[in-house]
Amino acid sequence: MNSTLNSDRMSRFVETCEAIGATTKKNEKIQVLSDYLESLDLEDGARACVFFTGRAFPRREEKVLSVGGSLLWQAIIELTHLSGDEMETIYRKHGDSGAAAQEALGRHVATGKLTLEEVAATLQDLAARRGPAQKLARLIDLFRKAEPVEVKYLIKIITGDLRIGLKEGLVEEAIAQASGCPTTDVRRANMLTGDIGTAFQLARKNRLAAAQLRLFHPIGFMLASPAESPTEVMEYYPEGILTEDKYDGIRAQAHKSGQIVKFFSRTLDEIVEFPELTSPLLRIPGEFILDGEILAWRDDPLPFTELQKRLGRKQPDFWLHQDIPVTFMVFDVLYCDGRLLLDTLLTERRQRLEALLAERQSVEVRLAPVKVCRSEGELRDFFDAALARGNEGAMCKAPGSAYTPGQRGRSWFKLKRPFATLDVVVTSVEYGHGKRRGLLSDFTFSVRDHDRLLTVGKAYSGLTDREIHQLTQYFLERTIEDRGFWRRVEPCVVIEVAFNNIQRSDRHESGYALRFPRIVRLRPDKLPAEIDTLDRVKELYEKQFSARNSER
Ligand code: AMP
Repeated sequence: MNSTLNSDRMSRFVETCEAIGATTKKNEKIQVLSDYLESLDLEDGARACVFFTGRAFPRREEKVLSVGGSLLWQAIIELTHLSGDEMETIYRKHGDSGAAAQEALGRHVATGKLTLEEVAATLQDLAARRGPAQKLARLIDLFRKAEPVEVKYLIKIITGDLRIGLKEGLVEEAIAQASGCPTTDVRRANMLTGDIGTAFQLARKNRLAAAQLRLFHPIGFMLASPAESPTEVMEYYPEGILTEDKYDGIRAQAHKSGQIVKFFSRTLDEIVEFPELTSPLLRIPGEFILDGEILAWRDDPLPFTELQKRLGRKQPDFWLHQDIPVTFMVFDVLYCDGRLLLDTLLTERRQRLEALLAERQSVEVRLAPVKVCRSEGELRDFFDAALARGNEGAMCKAPGSAYTPGQRGRSWFKLKRPFATLDVVVTSVEYGHGKRRGLLSDFTFSVRDHDRLLTVGKAYSGLTDREIHQLTQYFLERTIEDRGFWRRVEPCVVIEVAFNNIQRSDRHESGYALRFPRIVRLRPDKLPAEIDTLDRVKELYEKQFSARNSER
C-alpha cells in the first residue's frame, strides 16, 4: 500500500488518545480532542472521528472485521516470539489486550510511519479478506509498521473500544467546539448520516444544515437487538409492546417526491432491481420516506432464496418479474410532506402511516399488520403465529420510541426461532472483556468427527455469572496449552448451543460456522463422547434450505 504523504501521522492520533485517557475531566477531554481535530484536514478529521468512537468504519457501513482476540494474539506472538507463559503474565497485568500487546512488543521499532489514511485503508482491506490466514498476514504487516503504542490503539479500534473514557457524545461535543457549531446540530447530522466523519466534515464546512433531511439521500436504518425469549422482551415493556411479523426479505427505504421514487438498502446503496414497485408508490400522494421490507410474495411470503434470484440483476427481466413477484411491506414512515418524523413517537408515526396508505394499498405496497401484546403469553402466541404465516419471527417495538437511525437499542427487539440446538464440547477458552475481564467467558466449541474434535463456533452468552466463575476455575485447572489470552482446554465441558443458521466457513476446523450461537445450558449429564457429530452439522446445513421452503 502506498504510504500517504499528505495524511497525518497515526502517532498524533495516539498521543491524543493518551492525553484524553489521562484525564477524567469531561471538559479537558473535549478540549484535547477539539484542538486535535482543528489541526486535521477534512479527510483525516473524518477518519479520526470514526476511530475515536471505537469503530473501524462509519456506523452506516455495518462492516465487520472478523478479527478476534486469538488472531490478534497470534500476530503479536509472531512479532515477539514470546512464549504462552510470558504472554499470559503480561496479559494478566493489564487485563486489556491492547495494553498487553504494547508491553509485549517492548522496544519493537516500527518499520514505517503509519498515517491515518493507511490505517483506514488497511482496516478496509482486513474486512475484505476472507479467512484467518489472510487476515493474519495483513495484521502482522500492519503491526510491523507501527510503534508499540500505536499497536495498542490499533488493537483497541479493532476490538471496538478505546477505553479512554470517550463516549460518542463527547466526540460530537468536540466536533462542535472545533467548528463553532451547536452540538445539537452535530448530533443530528451524525444521526441523519450515520457517519460521525461526515458530521465532522459538514461542521467544518459550516454546512450542518445540509444534513437536514434531503430526499433521495438515505437516512441510517433503525436496528433491532436480538431477544432470547418473549420473557426478556416483556421484562423491558411490561405495559405492552407493538409487534409485527419479521419478514425475510431485504430492508428498504423508499423516497418519493414528484414523479420520482428511489429505494435504498441497509448499506445505503440504491436498490434498482424492483421497478414494478415504482408506480404503486407514485399513486400515493405527497412527499415521503417509508421504511419497510421488500419480499418475494405470491399470496404468502416466498422463501428468501426466491428473492435472491432477483438481486444483482440490473436489467429488467419481464418473465422473472412474473415468476417472482415482490411486495414492499411498509412498517414505518420517517418523513411526510415537509415534516421529519424521527422524533415522533412510534404510535403517532404508525397513525400517520395508516392515514397515508389508507385505501392505497396494493399487491405491491402493503401496510405491515401490527398487534399490541400485553403479556408474555400473547407475545408467545403472536410469535408462533408469525412463524406459521411463513415469516422469520416477530419484531417487538416500543410504542413510545423515536426512530433512531443507525442504532441498535432496546426500542426494537427481534425474536427469532433458534434453528436448532447442538450438543458440543468446549475446546478452547478466552478471557472476556469489561465486566467479564479476568474470567474465561468466551468459549470455542467443537463437534465430533470420529475420533477428532473440530471447532464449529464460539459463544459468549447464555451462562450465569456464577457458572462462568466456576467454569473459569475449572478451565484453569484443565489447560493443555496456554497462550495467555487464549487457552486450549481438556474437552470435558459439554454445552447445548442454539443458533440461527449454519454457514460454510474456513474460520473453523469443521468447515462450518454456527451463526449467532448462544449457550442454552450446561450438559453435565452428557459425556464428550456423546456430543453431536460433523455429519449432524452437515445434515442441518442442508436441511436449513429445505426447511426455509417448507415452512412457508
Ligand atoms: P436481522 O437481519 O436478523 O438483524 O434482523 C433485522 C432485519 O429484520 C431488519 O433490518 C429488517 O430487514 C428485517 N425486518 C423484517 N421485518 C421487520 C419489521 N416488521 N420491522 C423491522 N425490521 C424488519
